[in-house]
Amino acid sequence: MPNISAGSRSLLRSSLQVCSAAAFALAALAAAAQPPSSTPIVLHAARLLQVSTGVLLQPGEILVEGEHIRAVGTSVDHPQGAKVIDLGDTTLLPGLIDVHVHLFLHPGAEDLQTVEESIPWRTILAEQAAKADLMAGFTAERDMGTEGAGSADTAVRDAIAQGLIPGPRMRISGNAVSILGGHEDAIHYNPAQHVLSNADYANSADQLIEVIRAQHKEGSDFVKIYETGSDRMIGGELHTPYQYTEPQLAAAIQEASRLGASIAVHATGEPGTLYAAQAGVASIDHANQLSDETMRLMRLKNIPAVPTFAIFAYFAQHAASPAAAVRESALLNYKIAEFKRQVTAGIPFAVGTDVGPFPHGTQAVEMELMVRYGMTPLAVLQADMIEGAKLLGWDGQIGELKPGYFADVVAVPGNPLADITAVERVSFVMKGGAVVRQ
Ligand SMILES: [Zn+2]
Repeated sequence: MPNISAGSRSLLRSSLQVCSAAAFALAALAAAAQPPSSTPIVLHAARLLQVSTGVLLQPGEILVEGEHIRAVGTSVDHPQGAKVIDLGDTTLLPGLIDVHVHLFLHPGAEDLQTVEESIPWRTILAEQAAKADLMAGFTAERDMGTEGAGSADTAVRDAIAQGLIPGPRMRISGNAVSILGGHEDAIHYNPAQHVLSNADYANSADQLIEVIRAQHKEGSDFVKIYETGSDRMIGGELHTPYQYTEPQLAAAIQEASRLGASIAVHATGEPGTLYAAQAGVASIDHANQLSDETMRLMRLKNIPAVPTFAIFAYFAQHAASPAAAVRESALLNYKIAEFKRQVTAGIPFAVGTDVGPFPHGTQAVEMELMVRYGMTPLAVLQADMIEGAKLLGWDGQIGELKPGYFADVVAVPGNPLADITAVERVSFVMKGGAVVRQ
């Protein structure tokens, strides 16, 4: 990782390893800066969705004490001195989850931002991105690679966790991992300029293990691997070379498991998607093309596909030239047809958007697209919240409105089961018992 700033190195510390006296003092300061309410809060709204069952409570109430939900029902105890927040004709939902974000990218990702902008500058923009996502209702996210900012996301995750800056709960990967001359490498530049890859190189199982250890040392929670690319449409079919063999991915997964981490892959099509499913990755992101055998394995091993429609739709709408627009639209249409097959096949899904190349805070449109292309609103909300919480390793703590869970709660107008676009108009956000938007 030659391109990581000395400043970010000094902040490398997993949120689970914060135990020094200095870190403890910092955490105490942060708690003072952004505390959950010291008095109980009762949230009241016309509706409350129990996501796992699809039951809609009318009205819905949540009792919040400190960081956690204490009670949920059509009416809950109103303890003496509790603050009641009446959210009117809205539906209370668990905080939204995005399992595929890039805090370190902003619109114009296909330009030279990762070459021209310094890591300190990109880190400041990442803070802004985290805030925008939180204000849009996303209270937990998985950052799928800093794209050349190395482990700077460790600092962003930890600053959020300690309450120094607003943002979602984060799982982070540092740089993604890719092969020499592969999908994420800087291959169209003057070789004499030695333009760096946006990913960390690994060309063998041994190198994958070494990179995973280096990223772990710098604070990563999981590993993002580029398994396919670059993509081409030929005669109406998607063609994409694989980057790692199944045994190489299996070696990476074994090493990640040893560290309590998982592997997520960028994998658009066969045979890379099959290799990923055979090896047992945590999720297959993009998933434009999945064979029947790949889908069988995904069902068997409960590996969700993360369609990321939002980025494909954005690129189709914002293509740089008419020819590019034709290419992007062809790819999107191919993806839509494949997605319908995947829904019919009954594979699991999680909701990730690839936000960053399009504006942070606008990514809830993903759920509208997943409904438009074949899923029910309830199935999409379950994919977002329940599969999402599992993928982030926070199942049992977030993703549902239940006693004992973190009080990550949003309110949306109307009824999202009748109109999923309600999730694009979040009017209230609570994270860990603290009201961050009202
Ligand atoms: Zn991505």
